[in-house]
Amino acid sequence: MSTLDAQLQAALATVAQAGRRRVLRPAALLAGGRIARDGRVLVDFSSNDYLGLATHPLLAERAREWTARHGTGSGASRLVTGTSDEVLALEAKVAAFKGCEAALIFASGWQANAATIPALLAAMPGAAVFADRLIHASMHAGLAIGGLRQHRFRHNDLAHLEALLAGKGRDAPARVILTESVFSMDGDVADLDRLGALARQHDAVLFVDEAHATGVLGPRGAGLSAASPGAAQIVMGTFSKALGGFGAYVAGSRALIDWLTNAASGFVFSTALPPAVLGAIDAALDLVPSLDAERAHLVALSDRLRAGLDRLGLDRGASASQIVPAVIGPEEQTLALAAALDERGFLAAAIRPPTVPPGTSRLRLALRAAHSEGDVDDLLEAIAACR
Ligand SMILES: *Cc1c(COP(=O)(O)O)cnc(C)c1O
Repeated sequence: MSTLDAQLQAALATVAQAGRRRVLRPAALLAGGRIARDGRVLVDFSSNDYLGLATHPLLAERAREWTARHGTGSGASRLVTGTSDEVLALEAKVAAFKGCEAALIFASGWQANAATIPALLAAMPGAAVFADRLIHASMHAGLAIGGLRQHRFRHNDLAHLEALLAGKGRDAPARVILTESVFSMDGDVADLDRLGALARQHDAVLFVDEAHATGVLGPRGAGLSAASPGAAQIVMGTFSKALGGFGAYVAGSRALIDWLTNAASGFVFSTALPPAVLGAIDAALDLVPSLDAERAHLVALSDRLRAGLDRLGLDRGASASQIVPAVIGPEEQTLALAAALDERGFLAAAIRPPTVPPGTSRLRLALRAAHSEGDVDDLLEAIAACR
């Protein structure tokens, strides 16, 4: 064994000893809220394909059309070779969907956050950053790349944020607040109206990650930022979850997008998304505004799931979306429950530290519009039987 492999094996052994070694298992997303895994079909409560668009024929057809017209690769970074009218039109479509002046497409949500945050702060020297304690790892990556210290406020605790803004933020030349509109692991929502008011009051910029709200919440599925116009100056979201494809956007003012085009490393130095992916995004944006029935069904399913977990005496936190945690606590117990559910035909992945704080290991249950009420009832029955 090479020295490198020996070192890697030792590092993996440490992870395994802590019971945290992860492996990739063969799986394929299916229509109907199902997933094929290890050769079995499971009812899938773990994917983020909330609206079923990942297997929608219109997205596949548009992906094929764009591929037939433009090939499989985009060839270069958009700044080097230029950009097609179709991509500019697609960005205008995203901006209109979000009710913003302009939008920029990134290769992924992780990349959008990791590139946008340092670019933003490069234009605001000395800015103080205030981040909700539960923001996504990609925003932390952006802060780390920018070499920025952050003041963390307790999750969704706006009184704590206000105290920090009035104290630590007072003397900074600029202030930025980072939050998610729907939190990915808890399914609770941020109060964007109040956050927007706080930001205005303290002359701060509000940055909102709408990865889990885009397509699902807000008017026509345009996200919670669209329900609170003017609250956030910078809105990021992904096409990889409810929109059934891949890639991400940042939306805001024309000046913001012009600056990111110049300064966001993950945009400047990365190849543009391939035509197939852009075509799928285009089709998803055509479909999403019309999916009010699917969104209403998701609300009904999540209400049903929360009520059922309450009856079982399980902590489901402050969930107010299609993401519903069933907090178990200890890692071992959570893993055992997920394994027992798997045996009964349900994929309900255990989420544990470091993704969530120690002692809050949980099943992160994500509803899909293709689920029936019966699927939710069956899951609840299985949870009751397995505990
Ligand atoms: C999934 C996720 C991202 C990353 O998006 P990808 O397109 O999967 O890279 C960013 N932020 C949040 C809150 C997410 O849940």
